[in-house]
Amino acid sequence: MGLQPTEVASYGVSRHGKPVLQLGGHRFNHKYETAGRRAYWICVKARLHGCKSTIITIGDEIVSYNDQHKHYH
Ligand SMILES: [Zn+2]
Repeated sequence: MGLQPTEVASYGVSRHGKPVLQLGGHRFNHKYETAGRRAYWICVKARLHGCKSTIITIGDEIVSYNDQHKHYH
């Protein structure tokens, strides 16, 4: 739990034109956004592996990272 200083998130767009977030070798799909620019991201392996890893961002800043991945990349 907790962010390593060396882990830098990078934002991009998937092949399908959806926003993606890349962090620590994992990719996350944009799930939804609430008022106050708080965005929820889920691991791209969520459906395939039942991965529960999520990221919450406000603007460009990561405020929460659940890095309990159930797979290796
Ligand atoms: Zn995962």
